[in-house]
Amino acid sequence: MKRNLIERLNHGPVICAEGFLFEIEKRGYLSAGEFAPMVALENPNALENLHKDFQHAGSDIVLAFTYNGHRDKMREIGKEDLLEQLNRAALKIAKKIADNPIGKNEPNLMAGNISHSNIWEPKDKKSHYKAEKMFTEMVEWAFDEGADLIMGETFFYAEEAFKALDVIQKAGLPSVINLAPMAENFMQDEISIIDTCKELEQRGADVVGMNCFRGPATMMPYLRKIRKEISCHMSALPIAFRTTKENPTYFNLPDIKGCACPAPGGKTFPTALDPMYCNRYEMREFFQEAHGMGINFLGVCCGATPMHQREAAEAAGLIVPASKYREIEMQSEIANHPMYDN
Ligand SMILES: [Zn+2]
Repeated sequence: MKRNLIERLNHGPVICAEGFLFEIEKRGYLSAGEFAPMVALENPNALENLHKDFQHAGSDIVLAFTYNGHRDKMREIGKEDLLEQLNRAALKIAKKIADNPIGKNEPNLMAGNISHSNIWEPKDKKSHYKAEKMFTEMVEWAFDEGADLIMGETFFYAEEAFKALDVIQKAGLPSVINLAPMAENFMQDEISIIDTCKELEQRGADVVGMNCFRGPATMMPYLRKIRKEISCHMSALPIAFRTTKENPTYFNLPDIKGCACPAPGGKTFPTALDPMYCNRYEMREFFQEAHGMGINFLGVCCGATPMHQREAAEAAGLIVPASKYREIEMQSEIANHPMYDN
Protein backbone atom coordinates (compact mmCIF):
# COMPACT_ATOMS: atom_id res chain seq x y z
CA MET A 1 0.00 0.00 0.00
CA LYS A 2 1.27 3.44 -0.87
CA ARG A 3 -0.80 6.47 0.03
CA ASN A 4 -0.49 9.61 -2.06
CA LEU A 5 0.71 12.97 -0.72
CA ILE A 6 -2.73 14.34 0.08
CA GLU A 7 -3.85 11.20 1.89
CA ARG A 8 -0.70 11.40 4.01
CA LEU A 9 -1.12 15.12 4.74
CA ASN A 10 -4.79 14.64 5.67
CA HIS A 11 -3.65 12.03 8.14
CA GLY A 12 -0.82 14.01 9.78
CA PRO A 13 2.68 15.44 9.42
CA VAL A 14 4.86 14.49 6.44
CA ILE A 15 8.60 15.17 6.52
CA CYS A 16 10.56 16.20 3.44
CA ALA A 17 14.28 16.69 3.98
CA GLU A 18 16.11 19.24 1.85
CA GLY A 19 19.42 21.09 2.06
CA PHE A 20 21.38 18.75 -0.23
CA LEU A 21 23.47 21.50 -1.82
CA PHE A 22 25.04 22.67 1.45
CA GLU A 23 25.41 19.26 3.04
CA ILE A 24 26.90 17.57 -0.04
CA GLU A 25 29.32 20.52 -0.40
CA LYS A 26 30.38 20.13 3.23
CA ARG A 27 30.87 16.41 2.70
CA GLY A 28 33.29 17.26 -0.12
CA TYR A 29 31.38 16.15 -3.20
CA LEU A 30 30.23 19.46 -4.68
CA SER A 31 31.89 22.81 -5.42
CA ALA A 32 30.76 25.94 -3.60
CA GLY A 33 30.53 28.79 -6.09
CA GLU A 34 29.52 26.60 -8.99
CA PHE A 35 26.81 24.92 -6.88
CA ALA A 36 25.66 22.50 -9.58
CA PRO A 37 24.27 19.13 -8.42
CA MET A 38 26.78 17.07 -10.44
CA VAL A 39 27.01 14.63 -7.53
CA ALA A 40 24.24 12.45 -9.01
CA LEU A 41 26.58 11.64 -11.90
CA GLU A 42 30.00 11.97 -10.33
CA ASN A 43 29.50 10.45 -6.86
CA PRO A 44 26.09 8.76 -6.80
CA ASN A 45 26.97 6.87 -3.60
CA ALA A 46 27.51 10.13 -1.72
CA LEU A 47 24.02 11.29 -2.73
CA GLU A 48 22.48 7.93 -1.85
CA ASN A 49 24.11 8.06 1.56
CA LEU A 50 22.73 11.51 2.33
CA HIS A 51 19.24 10.45 1.23
CA LYS A 52 19.53 7.42 3.51
CA ASP A 53 20.74 9.54 6.44
CA PHE A 54 17.77 11.88 5.99
CA GLN A 55 15.42 8.91 5.63
CA HIS A 56 16.80 7.48 8.87
CA ALA A 57 16.12 10.87 10.46
CA GLY A 58 12.47 10.64 9.41
CA SER A 59 12.10 12.01 5.89
CA ASP A 60 8.97 10.51 4.28
CA ILE A 61 9.63 12.12 0.93
CA VAL A 62 12.83 11.61 -1.03
CA LEU A 63 13.33 14.80 -3.01
CA ALA A 64 15.41 14.30 -6.14
CA PHE A 65 18.49 16.51 -5.96
CA THR A 66 18.04 18.46 -9.17
CA TYR A 67 18.07 21.89 -7.52
CA ASN A 68 20.05 24.22 -9.82
CA GLY A 69 20.26 21.32 -12.28
CA HIS A 70 18.29 23.26 -14.86
CA ARG A 71 19.13 24.30 -18.41
CA ASP A 72 20.27 27.83 -17.56
CA LYS A 73 22.71 26.72 -14.85
CA MET A 74 24.04 23.80 -16.89
CA ARG A 75 24.62 26.11 -19.87
CA GLU A 76 26.40 28.62 -17.63
CA ILE A 77 28.88 25.97 -16.47
CA GLY A 78 29.30 24.47 -19.94
CA LYS A 79 27.54 21.19 -19.16
CA GLU A 80 24.23 21.59 -20.96
CA ASP A 81 24.82 18.30 -22.77
CA LEU A 82 24.59 16.49 -19.40
CA LEU A 83 21.30 18.11 -18.38
CA GLU A 84 18.90 15.23 -19.04
CA GLN A 85 21.38 12.59 -17.89
CA LEU A 86 21.93 14.44 -14.61
CA ASN A 87 18.23 14.91 -13.96
CA ARG A 88 17.39 11.28 -14.67
CA ALA A 89 20.28 10.03 -12.53
CA ALA A 90 19.15 12.14 -9.54
CA LEU A 91 15.54 11.02 -10.00
CA LYS A 92 16.53 7.34 -10.26
CA ILE A 93 18.57 7.57 -7.04
CA ALA A 94 15.68 9.27 -5.20
CA LYS A 95 13.25 6.63 -6.49
CA LYS A 96 15.53 3.80 -5.38
CA ILE A 97 15.80 5.20 -1.84
CA ALA A 98 12.07 5.98 -1.68
CA ASP A 99 11.18 2.41 -2.64
CA ASN A 100 13.34 1.07 0.20
CA PRO A 101 12.12 2.80 3.35
CA ILE A 102 13.82 2.22 6.67
CA GLY A 103 11.73 0.61 9.37
CA LYS A 104 8.38 0.55 7.62
CA ASN A 105 6.56 -1.25 4.84
CA GLU A 106 4.99 1.69 3.06
CA PRO A 107 7.38 3.19 0.49
CA ASN A 108 8.37 6.83 0.77
CA LEU A 109 7.17 9.22 -1.87
CA MET A 110 9.60 10.45 -4.51
CA ALA A 111 9.45 14.12 -5.45
CA GLY A 112 10.73 15.83 -8.56
CA ASN A 113 12.12 19.31 -8.05
CA ILE A 114 11.95 22.57 -9.96
CA SER A 115 13.00 25.97 -8.65
CA HIS A 116 13.44 29.61 -9.68
CA SER A 117 14.86 29.69 -13.19
CA ASN A 118 17.36 32.56 -12.79
CA ILE A 119 16.08 34.03 -16.07
CA TRP A 120 12.62 35.30 -15.11
CA GLU A 121 12.09 39.00 -15.96
CA PRO A 122 8.65 40.34 -14.99
CA LYS A 123 8.01 42.26 -18.23
CA ASP A 124 9.87 40.00 -20.65
CA LYS A 125 7.45 37.47 -22.16
CA LYS A 126 10.34 35.65 -23.87
CA SER A 127 11.90 34.90 -20.49
CA HIS A 128 8.57 33.47 -19.31
CA TYR A 129 8.39 31.19 -22.31
CA LYS A 130 11.97 30.02 -21.72
CA ALA A 131 11.32 29.37 -18.01
CA GLU A 132 8.18 27.42 -18.90
CA LYS A 133 10.25 25.24 -21.24
CA MET A 134 12.83 24.66 -18.49
CA PHE A 135 10.10 23.66 -16.02
CA THR A 136 8.33 21.46 -18.56
CA GLU A 137 11.36 19.35 -19.49
CA MET A 138 12.29 18.78 -15.83
CA VAL A 139 8.72 17.87 -14.85
CA GLU A 140 8.47 15.48 -17.79
CA TRP A 141 11.68 13.70 -16.79
CA ALA A 142 10.41 13.46 -13.20
CA PHE A 143 7.08 12.06 -14.37
CA ASP A 144 8.91 9.52 -16.54
CA GLU A 145 11.06 8.37 -13.63
CA GLY A 146 8.05 7.79 -11.39
CA ALA A 147 7.78 10.96 -9.28
CA ASP A 148 4.78 10.99 -6.93
CA LEU A 149 4.72 14.77 -6.71
CA ILE A 150 6.67 17.84 -7.78
CA MET A 151 8.05 20.41 -5.42
CA GLY A 152 8.40 23.84 -7.02
CA GLU A 153 10.49 26.02 -4.72
CA THR A 154 12.54 29.12 -3.91
CA PHE A 155 10.30 31.36 -6.02
CA PHE A 156 10.75 35.08 -5.40
CA TYR A 157 8.62 36.15 -8.38
CA ALA A 158 4.90 35.45 -7.88
CA GLU A 159 4.26 35.00 -11.60
CA GLU A 160 7.09 32.50 -11.89
CA ALA A 161 5.54 30.46 -9.07
CA PHE A 162 2.18 30.54 -10.91
CA LYS A 163 3.90 29.34 -14.08
CA ALA A 164 5.60 26.48 -12.24
CA LEU A 165 2.25 25.43 -10.76
CA ASP A 166 0.66 25.48 -14.19
CA VAL A 167 3.37 23.18 -15.60
CA ILE A 168 3.04 20.72 -12.69
CA GLN A 169 -0.73 20.64 -13.04
CA LYS A 170 -0.46 19.90 -16.76
CA ALA A 171 1.58 16.80 -15.85
CA GLY A 172 -1.20 15.72 -13.50
CA LEU A 173 1.03 15.44 -10.44
CA PRO A 174 0.38 16.81 -6.92
CA SER A 175 2.05 20.18 -6.44
CA VAL A 176 3.94 21.77 -3.59
CA ILE A 177 4.80 25.43 -4.22
CA ASN A 178 7.22 27.14 -1.88
CA LEU A 179 7.98 30.85 -1.91
CA ALA A 180 11.33 32.28 -0.85
CA PRO A 181 10.96 36.05 -0.63
CA MET A 182 14.09 38.18 -0.64
CA ALA A 183 14.94 40.65 2.15
CA GLU A 184 12.46 43.26 0.86
CA ASN A 185 9.66 41.13 2.33
CA PHE A 186 7.54 41.03 -0.80
CA MET A 187 7.71 39.18 -4.09
CA GLN A 188 10.02 40.80 -6.65
CA ASP A 189 7.07 41.52 -8.95
CA GLU A 190 5.65 43.56 -6.06
CA ILE A 191 2.80 41.23 -5.18
CA SER A 192 2.53 40.62 -1.45
CA ILE A 193 3.64 37.27 -0.07
CA ILE A 194 0.17 36.65 1.39
CA ASP A 195 -1.64 37.50 -1.86
CA THR A 196 0.72 35.21 -3.78
CA CYS A 197 -0.18 32.32 -1.47
CA LYS A 198 -3.90 33.08 -1.78
CA GLU A 199 -3.61 33.09 -5.55
CA LEU A 200 -1.71 29.78 -5.54
CA GLU A 201 -4.50 28.22 -3.49
CA GLN A 202 -7.11 29.66 -5.86
CA ARG A 203 -5.27 28.13 -8.79
CA GLY A 204 -5.41 24.73 -7.14
CA ALA A 205 -1.96 24.16 -5.64
CA ASP A 206 -2.11 21.19 -3.29
CA VAL A 207 0.42 22.56 -0.80
CA VAL A 208 1.50 26.21 -0.44
CA GLY A 209 4.23 27.55 1.82
CA MET A 210 7.79 28.74 2.16
CA ASN A 211 11.25 27.24 1.94
CA CYS A 212 14.90 28.30 2.01
CA PHE A 213 16.55 31.74 2.38
CA ARG A 214 14.97 32.33 5.84
CA GLY A 215 15.62 30.77 9.20
CA PRO A 216 12.93 30.05 11.79
CA ALA A 217 12.88 33.63 13.17
CA THR A 218 12.07 35.35 9.87
CA MET A 219 9.92 32.65 8.27
CA MET A 220 7.51 32.05 11.15
CA PRO A 221 5.88 35.53 11.13
CA TYR A 222 4.81 34.95 7.51
CA LEU A 223 3.62 31.41 8.13
CA ARG A 224 1.32 32.71 10.87
CA LYS A 225 -0.19 35.28 8.50
CA ILE A 226 -0.50 32.87 5.57
CA ARG A 227 -2.17 30.23 7.77
CA LYS A 228 -4.96 32.70 8.54
CA GLU A 229 -5.61 33.34 4.86
CA ILE A 230 -5.50 29.94 3.17
CA SER A 231 -7.08 26.62 4.02
CA CYS A 232 -5.17 24.20 1.78
CA HIS A 233 -2.23 22.21 3.13
CA MET A 234 0.83 24.28 3.99
CA SER A 235 4.58 23.69 3.95
CA ALA A 236 7.40 25.08 6.08
CA LEU A 237 11.05 24.34 5.28
CA PRO A 238 13.34 26.97 6.84
CA ILE A 239 17.12 27.08 6.63
CA ALA A 240 19.00 26.11 9.79
CA PHE A 241 20.54 29.55 10.37
CA ARG A 242 19.71 32.43 12.68
CA THR A 243 18.35 35.09 10.34
CA THR A 244 17.24 38.35 11.92
CA LYS A 245 14.77 41.17 11.39
CA GLU A 246 17.64 43.31 10.01
CA ASN A 247 18.81 40.47 7.77
CA PRO A 248 15.75 38.31 7.03
CA THR A 249 17.64 36.04 4.59
CA TYR A 250 21.04 34.37 4.82
CA PHE A 251 22.48 36.23 1.85
CA ASN A 252 23.75 39.16 3.91
CA LEU A 253 23.85 37.64 7.36
CA PRO A 254 26.82 39.17 9.27
CA ASP A 255 29.01 37.04 11.50
CA ILE A 256 28.28 37.02 15.21
CA LYS A 257 28.92 40.29 17.03
CA GLY A 258 32.48 41.50 16.97
CA CYS A 259 33.82 38.49 15.13
CA ALA A 260 36.51 39.37 12.62
CA CYS A 261 36.90 35.78 11.47
CA PRO A 262 38.07 35.38 7.89
CA ALA A 263 35.43 34.84 5.20
CA PRO A 264 35.67 35.42 1.44
CA GLY A 265 34.88 39.07 0.73
CA GLY A 266 33.89 39.48 4.36
CA LYS A 267 30.62 37.67 3.60
CA THR A 268 29.43 34.66 5.55
CA PHE A 269 27.16 33.43 2.73
CA PRO A 270 27.45 30.74 1.59
CA THR A 271 30.46 28.98 3.12
CA ALA A 272 31.09 30.71 6.46
CA LEU A 273 27.63 30.64 8.01
CA ASP A 274 28.58 28.02 10.62
CA PRO A 275 28.60 30.32 13.70
CA MET A 276 24.95 31.24 12.96
CA TYR A 277 23.71 27.65 13.05
CA CYS A 278 20.38 26.99 14.74
CA ASN A 279 20.62 24.37 17.40
CA ARG A 280 18.15 21.47 17.52
CA TYR A 281 16.10 23.05 20.30
CA GLU A 282 15.45 26.17 18.20
CA MET A 283 14.33 23.95 15.34
CA ARG A 284 12.09 21.98 17.68
CA GLU A 285 10.37 25.18 18.85
CA PHE A 286 9.78 26.26 15.26
CA PHE A 287 8.33 22.93 14.16
CA GLN A 288 6.17 22.54 17.26
CA GLU A 289 4.56 25.88 16.47
CA ALA A 290 4.26 25.14 12.74
CA HIS A 291 2.69 21.76 13.36
CA GLY A 292 0.45 23.29 16.01
CA MET A 293 -0.90 25.65 13.35
CA GLY A 294 -1.81 22.68 11.19
CA ILE A 295 1.16 22.90 8.84
CA ASN A 296 1.82 19.29 7.92
CA PHE A 297 4.49 19.44 5.19
CA LEU A 298 7.68 19.99 7.19
CA GLY A 299 11.43 19.81 6.71
CA VAL A 300 14.68 21.73 6.89
CA CYS A 301 16.43 23.35 3.92
CA CYS A 302 19.99 24.74 3.63
CA GLY A 303 22.20 23.93 6.58
CA ALA A 304 20.11 20.88 7.47
CA THR A 305 21.81 17.90 9.01
CA PRO A 306 20.02 14.67 9.95
CA MET A 307 19.93 16.06 13.50
CA HIS A 308 17.73 18.97 12.33
CA GLN A 309 15.48 16.73 10.24
CA ARG A 310 14.91 14.36 13.16
CA GLU A 311 13.99 17.32 15.34
CA ALA A 312 11.38 18.43 12.78
CA ALA A 313 9.84 14.96 12.76
CA GLU A 314 9.83 14.54 16.54
CA ALA A 315 8.48 18.08 17.09
CA ALA A 316 5.50 17.03 14.98
CA GLY A 317 4.98 13.99 17.21
CA LEU A 318 6.60 11.36 15.00
CA ILE A 319 8.87 8.54 16.09
CA VAL A 320 11.45 7.87 13.39
CA PRO A 321 14.29 5.34 13.06
CA ALA A 322 16.84 7.84 14.46
CA SER A 323 14.59 8.41 17.50
CA LYS A 324 16.26 5.32 18.91
CA TYR A 325 19.30 7.49 19.54
CA ARG A 326 17.63 10.72 20.63
CA GLU A 327 19.00 12.61 23.60
CA ILE A 328 18.36 10.86 26.87
CA GLU A 329 17.22 13.19 29.61
CA MET A 330 18.92 11.85 32.68
CA GLN A 331 16.88 11.36 35.82
CA SER A 332 17.71 13.93 38.47
CA GLU A 333 19.18 11.39 40.89
CA ILE A 334 21.63 10.28 38.19
CA ALA A 335 22.35 13.84 37.09
CA ASN A 336 23.10 14.75 40.70
CA HIS A 337 25.41 11.79 41.20
CA PRO A 338 28.92 12.83 42.32
CA MET A 339 30.30 11.25 39.14
CA TYR A 340 28.72 14.11 37.14
CA ASP A 341 29.65 16.76 39.64
CA ASN A 342 32.43 18.97 38.39
ZN1 LIG B 1 17.75 26.05 0.95
